[in-house]
Amino acid sequence: MDDVRFAVIGAGMAGLACAHELTRADAKVTVFERSRGLGGRLATRRIGPLTFDHGAQFITTRRRPFSRHAETAFRAGMLDAWRPRIMEDNRAWPAPIEDWWIGQPGMSALVRPLARNIEIHSGVAVHELIPSQRGWELQTDSGRQSVSFRAVAVAIPAPQAILLLGPHGRSFKQISDVRMAPCWTGMFAFDPPIDAGADARRWTSGPIVWAACNSSKPGRPHTPQCWVLHASSGWSREHIDLDATEAASLLLRAFGDNLDFELPTPVHQDAHRWRHALVEQPLGLSCLVDEEMSAGACGDWCIAPRVEAAFESGRSLAHSLLSMVGLSAPRMLRP
Ligand SMILES: Cc1cc2nc3c(=O)[nH]c(=O)nc-3n(C[C@H](O)[C@H](O)[C@H](O)COP(=O)(O)OP(=O)(O)OC[C@H]3O[C@@H](n4cnc5c(N)ncnc54)[C@H](O)[C@@H]3O)c2cc1C
Repeated sequence: MDDVRFAVIGAGMAGLACAHELTRADAKVTVFERSRGLGGRLATRRIGPLTFDHGAQFITTRRRPFSRHAETAFRAGMLDAWRPRIMEDNRAWPAPIEDWWIGQPGMSALVRPLARNIEIHSGVAVHELIPSQRGWELQTDSGRQSVSFRAVAVAIPAPQAILLLGPHGRSFKQISDVRMAPCWTGMFAFDPPIDAGADARRWTSGPIVWAACNSSKPGRPHTPQCWVLHASSGWSREHIDLDATEAASLLLRAFGDNLDFELPTPVHQDAHRWRHALVEQPLGLSCLVDEEMSAGACGDWCIAPRVEAAFESGRSLAHSLLSMVGLSAPRMLRP
């Protein structure tokens, strides 16, 4: 059993849920993550006293495995409820039926309980999967890995997963049916604060679909007042090649137009381009596995554009890989 070694590529929610589940079954796991931090699109940007949750805004928990994970994070002080006043277009919106949860002190805290005791190589991108007699070898930023892996789990957005898995096995060709939309995110800090009428605002038309006062989230600094804006997928596609400075200026102007007043000059403004932000056309399977190749893929794009979907997809892939190599999946109720 000790000889079974898995590689997981990507340390977002899907990759770490997969790695955690493999580890619980006593398999050896190495995670490779391109960025220095963990969490992927569960991200918080910090600039001095300013914090912006510029990826996922909050999570909801609809099914038992994920709500158990959220309970663990809550008990560890890594999760908190966010109850913003919400408006859609110009109307007040009733409080959501589901609870909205955020990571503490930032969104990536939501993956921390899954990353414990796992070997993670961060700041290392995987460029190529090389089948060998002993399994898989990986070509990374830091050269060819000296170890071979019995199986590989690819937990990165679909357009990137197809580049790694496309050459290996026909089952992976269907990844190209998945469609993901980009999202330009604007980050603005105001001092003194602005009154936007609500803590979170949605618009059903125009360049901006979402604006959230990050400072209204528990545990986030109140001053200067930080706002995160999300552009619509249409606007983001049309303006994908802008540089961040230009995108930030256009989003700020659109925000002022939506609020119908002249915004003061922010003390900070910036923008981030998520090329593969939200799943528009999912795969429609919980994960993808090719037993012959001993490889699989997972991510939100398998199921839906939500953090919970990424978690479920990662677990599902772990269970398939474990049964493929003859290890039993960990019991559902084990902590
Ligand atoms: C702007 C925005 C708003 C959102 N709002 C919400 C929300 O409010 N609620 C919600 O539930 N969901 C929301 N989502 C969606 C949610 O963030 C995702 O569904 C979820 O985080 C996806 O997790 P993942 O693990 O599948 O992918 P990711 O989080 O993208 O993780 C993939 C990881 O793989 C790494 N990687 C990529 N290529 C390589 C490589 N070659 N080698 C090594 N590592 C690599 C990346 O750096 C990344 O860390 C939002 C997303 C965005 C972008």
